[in-house]
Amino acid sequence: MERNVIPVSVARPSLAIPDRAGIDTTAPARDTRQRRLRDLRISVTDRCNFRCTYCMPKDVFNDDYPFLPRTELLTFDEIVRLATVFHSLGVEKIRLTGGEPLLRRNIDGLVRMLATALPGVDLTLTTNGSALAQRARALREAGLRRLTVSLDSLDDATFRAMNDVDFPVAKVLEAIDVAASEGLAPVKVNMVVKKGINDHEVVDMARRFKGAGHVVRFIEFMDVGATNGWRMDDVVPSAEIVRRINAALPCEPAQPNNPGEVARRWRYKDGSGEFGVISSVTEAFCHSCNRARLSTDGHVYTCLFADQGYDLKSLMRGGASDQDLRRAVAAIWGAREDRYSEIRTAETAARRPKVEMSFIGG
Ligand code: SAM
Ligand code: SF4
Ligand code: SF4
Repeated sequence: MERNVIPVSVARPSLAIPDRAGIDTTAPARDTRQRRLRDLRISVTDRCNFRCTYCMPKDVFNDDYPFLPRTELLTFDEIVRLATVFHSLGVEKIRLTGGEPLLRRNIDGLVRMLATALPGVDLTLTTNGSALAQRARALREAGLRRLTVSLDSLDDATFRAMNDVDFPVAKVLEAIDVAASEGLAPVKVNMVVKKGINDHEVVDMARRFKGAGHVVRFIEFMDVGATNGWRMDDVVPSAEIVRRINAALPCEPAQPNNPGEVARRWRYKDGSGEFGVISSVTEAFCHSCNRARLSTDGHVYTCLFADQGYDLKSLMRGGASDQDLRRAVAAIWGAREDRYSEIRTAETAARRPKVEMSFIGG
């Protein structure tokens, strides 16, 4: 298969930051479709100790892959500075992600800095759980209140094959328990569903976490990046996932918790909890997408399926003031038109160049 790979550390042109003259930085930012900027995902590393086949396939992300050198990474001070700028323009929620965020040295130090600088912001983190049991207490003490753990299967052989580094499921389950006992509850559990690989486990997964206070979110396999060999045939529509769960564990729709929430909530009729479905392929939610992404090397991406970002790191390292940065972010968001999932076709999914999710933050 031909792969349209963009190694992220290879020099690629950044987008020119739109004209900043007359930009209002006093009101919450809105894009061309009147969508607010509410949610910021920060990728703190492009590296990972897993090689999930749908995200960082081993044949591409191998010893020769040009991961970012240390000097290209945003420092913690730079991350906090940019997060503060985004917050001043409306961001209410920040998620640390990657790559695997717990691989970034002293990640709890970053959590502490963000929690102190932005006490009103909903701060969370997504992890593969491999190093969570040892870190959960430090993260909690640093100010993290909740987190998401990815877990694609309860069957050890299937899980080891999907993470492709032979990591056992028991360790992730243990990490979820430790995180919950440290007060990082409810834990959200992300399961990417791939037809013929793990979709037969959807009901088991729902049953396993039902009543435990945790919320499973079933995610449609997406055509992010250019390396995961995505095909529409591998997607199990969320409607089908809900149908299967409802047949075994009767459920009904629940109201969204927040505007622009990507997961559709479903609650079990017996009152024992809820689950969510994220239907980015079959039921696009671009109309309410209020999410920006900050890549490991300090570029802003206004869509998960973008191939170029705006270079805030150079602006910052070139001496920009906070007001300059605010103007730049407001102008970038103000010019935003993205709606990739609404216009996705087999052709765009296969041909359009896109950066990898591990780089801009899943
Ligand atoms: N390493 C961390 C983890 O796996 O939780 C954080 C980064 S990961 C890119 C964030 C989320 O993106 C994970 O829940 C992962 O399952 C999801 N993801 C990655 N590739 C995906 C794809 N092709 N389709 C749908 N979800 C994907
Ligand atoms: Fe790593 Fe997360 Fe991607 Fe899996 S989904 S390869 S754990 S970044
Ligand atoms: Fe948002 Fe882009 Fe996803 Fe649409 S495709 S929901 S604009 S990230």
